[in-house]
Amino acid sequence: MHAPRISSFLPPRRILMGPGPSDVPRRILEAMARPTIGHLDPAFGDMMEQTKALLRYAFQTQNELTFPVSGPGSVGMETCFVNLVEPDDEVIVCVNGVFGGRMLENVRRCGGVPVVVEDAWGRAVDPDKVEAAFTSHPNARALAFVHAETSTGAQSDAAALAGIARKYGALTIMDCVTSLGGTPVRIDQWGIDAAYAGSQKCLSCTPGLSPVTFGERAIEKLRARKTPVRSWFMDLGLVLGYWSGTGKRTYHHTAPINPLYGLHEALVMLAEEGIEAAWARHRTQHEALKMGLEGLGLRFVVPEAERLPQLNAVALPAGVDDAAARARLLREFNLEIGAGLGVLAGKVWRIGLMGASARRENVAACVQALKAVLAP
Ligand SMILES: *Cc1c(COP(=O)(O)O)cnc(C)c1O
Repeated sequence: MHAPRISSFLPPRRILMGPGPSDVPRRILEAMARPTIGHLDPAFGDMMEQTKALLRYAFQTQNELTFPVSGPGSVGMETCFVNLVEPDDEVIVCVNGVFGGRMLENVRRCGGVPVVVEDAWGRAVDPDKVEAAFTSHPNARALAFVHAETSTGAQSDAAALAGIARKYGALTIMDCVTSLGGTPVRIDQWGIDAAYAGSQKCLSCTPGLSPVTFGERAIEKLRARKTPVRSWFMDLGLVLGYWSGTGKRTYHHTAPINPLYGLHEALVMLAEEGIEAAWARHRTQHEALKMGLEGLGLRFVVPEAERLPQLNAVALPAGVDDAAARARLLREFNLEIGAGLGVLAGKVWRIGLMGASARRENVAACVQALKAVLAP
């Protein structure tokens, strides 16, 4: 058999303003190009410890058990559920978009008994409905919700929701894939017991790593399990032999060495900027984009008070061909924006301002390109 005549892949340069990945700064890509070393090398171990410290800062937590799972945000999600939900556990799951629906699916697959709290797509989770669910299911063991619903651009009141769960003695599992680094996430102050995020959204790293954090109460639940965790790869008890064996790490799986260099660099950049400054930058660029979009006659899907700065969902204007317009944005302007997902498919565009993509040049380029594409 002849070798296929294929040469190196040279990706086009794009401006990434969809729901992730976001623009990855050159500095992070350069960090990833540094020499690969062994995953048990003591120098690599030092970098792992620094990464954990940097992640505690990003999550605003003192949780010892804070580290990046080897896998995309979805693996961080599964890690939380397979470890913290046992068969027959009642779990209150909030669904106000695609990712809440995935949490629900995870509860089912772990053998849990879901109690669904539904809210409209484009709205925050209603704390009153969560309270009512706990009143009618006082034995629920956990509450699961998405802080920043990327499918709609709505942000929920995590502090209020976690407060309700705590009152009923339930654990809180929070998806902060799109919020981490973009809007305030305060794990300890809010009393969140377990949370997972992603590398490719507001941290502006490449996809494929999922920072997670677990508090004391989550660890107690883990210790009290009556059944073994059904996933070997995601069993925290096993993973931790590698991630928390200070001085003596044992092989679990081969860590993705170079992607971890990239995450380390992304987190160093976040610490240099200061997390409050990063939150403020997302807010400022959102305000600028909002003015531009409204100037073009585009309407936001989410009410202002519940809107995420880093994910702007706008209704598709009547008469515009969704796929053709986005194809033109990509072809003529090298600009990627997101299509609608789930029930909003074909109805909205999702314009991301995540991480390094949340900058003035991107906002200006996006508004200009949309203007050209929407011109009659
Ligand atoms: C992107 C995203 C995920 C999944 O992350 P992947 O890295 O694509 O697996 C989960 N939840 C939310 C809210 C997201 O935006």
